[in-house]
Amino acid sequence: MAKYLVIGNWKMNGNLSRSEQLVEDILAQLPVLPTLEVAVCPPFTYLAPVAKRLRDTAVKLGAQNLCEHSAGAYTGEVAGPMLADFGTRFVLVGHSERRSLYGESSELVAAKVETALECVLTPVLCVGETLEEREAGKAEAVISSQLQPVLARIGSSAMKRVVIAYEPVWAIGTGKTASPQQAQDIHAFIRTSLQQADAWSDDHSRLLYGGSVKADNAAELFGQADIHGALVGGASLKAEDFVAICHAA
Ligand code: PGA
Repeated sequence: MAKYLVIGNWKMNGNLSRSEQLVEDILAQLPVLPTLEVAVCPPFTYLAPVAKRLRDTAVKLGAQNLCEHSAGAYTGEVAGPMLADFGTRFVLVGHSERRSLYGESSELVAAKVETALECVLTPVLCVGETLEEREAGKAEAVISSQLQPVLARIGSSAMKRVVIAYEPVWAIGTGKTASPQQAQDIHAFIRTSLQQADAWSDDHSRLLYGGSVKADNAAELFGQADIHGALVGGASLKAEDFVAICHAA
């Protein structure tokens, strides 16, 4: 089985000195845990200083987004090869804030996943339903509709190299975590769907849960059979909280 994975998504927070301090504090407090992989995703502008500090440490670098094109006239975008230049290992793709606030469709998300793989970055594909969709009993259908375009674009074998983060939109930044059982049910659904498509590897595939993961609910979430780590937003901005979540894994 692949190592557990905990990723901190700093979103558009902090400044240069706070980013440097945060990474310093994480490194000071986080012992090397043999069964755990840890990554942080700073804003683009702080990738370089954070990358420099992370060199030769066990903590890996991630980015929060990438362009679907690898180079060219795309003003304001950041390309996968540029991220790879800094030693970036992971890249979030299709975070619900990108989908809802910046209109990213599942087809665009699929193109970004493909580009990330071509740049030897591990895409962390975010999927999840809104509260309205859950209450209408459509959670699984929504998640399928987010996974299918990616599977169709990259194929089942490449899908095994994609980390999937289930992040129910109603749990992101709301303090309302999915119950361990709700999260497990969706994770099991994702695993089964990928297994049926021959897009799952027991050795490599990982499913992360995200949405108000905190130090005090992490252990119970990680105790579920199909939860292999977490994508952490708010609680990743305080080193003690983030490290406590890592310990729970
Ligand atoms: P949250 O964010 O932990 O603050 O809910 C999670 C995410 O958006 O990845």
